[in-house]
Amino acid sequence: MGVDRRKFLTIAGLTTLTALGKKASSVLPGNEDSSAVFDPMQPVSTEGKRYALVIDIRKCLKGEGCHDCIDACHLTHNVPDFGNPKDEIKWIWKEHYEEAFPKQEHPFTDKGLKEAPVLVLCNHCDNPPCVRVCPTQSTWKRDDGVVMMDMHRCIGCRYCVAACPYGSRSFNWRDPRPFIKDVNAEYPTRTRGVVEKCNLCAERLAVGKIPACVEACKHGALFFGDLEDPESEVRELLGSRYAIRRKPDLGTSPQVYYLV
Ligand code: SF4
Repeated sequence: MGVDRRKFLTIAGLTTLTALGKKASSVLPGNEDSSAVFDPMQPVSTEGKRYALVIDIRKCLKGEGCHDCIDACHLTHNVPDFGNPKDEIKWIWKEHYEEAFPKQEHPFTDKGLKEAPVLVLCNHCDNPPCVRVCPTQSTWKRDDGVVMMDMHRCIGCRYCVAACPYGSRSFNWRDPRPFIKDVNAEYPTRTRGVVEKCNLCAERLAVGKIPACVEACKHGALFFGDLEDPESEVRELLGSRYAIRRKPDLGTSPQVYYLV
């Protein structure tokens, strides 16, 4: 374990966001000096916050072959690379538009878009089926909407893997540690037999930072913010641009939105 587990869980569980501003930057407005702002012993409630990620598909496609966001996420969270699809662990990855958004096309949908690789991740669903089926409550939805995962409470039953209709959860069939290229000592590694997924960078939110994928995107395609703030950039985008979500007919209410 790279860091003391209890300390990490305390940090991750006590999201301390004092201000979430309008424009994307590497640090949330009001938290520029995160070390001074964050105190894990003085939790600040996230009541009233509702976090979401917005992905501008066309801007993302401009960076053809770009995987900066994926690299940043996987490096930050010690995601192993087993080198084969059978064992693959993924927090954020790309899928063809047609697979990511089945039934959300028509005969005249831009062919380039239909075949385009689209960024996908855990949708931090408002109504997450993965949470409902977990027998140990090792996954839960926070008040701010982040669907969390405690890998230490996970017993590896994989009910959540089966319940997630987006393939957003991965199971460690093997010990992942030897397959992590550069271990980030500030984030826990995992063991064989547990499930993992994107946590919307809860550990970064706790110290006033935006998710690593958003920070790493140099094409301006990713946005993170508070949907409850009418002045937030995500609200502005969703109010002015047409956005879709993955498999909306399932009733999971994803909180990852795609501008098309
Ligand atoms: Fe759960 Fe899957 Fe929704 Fe993420 S995308 S909250 S893992 S159901």
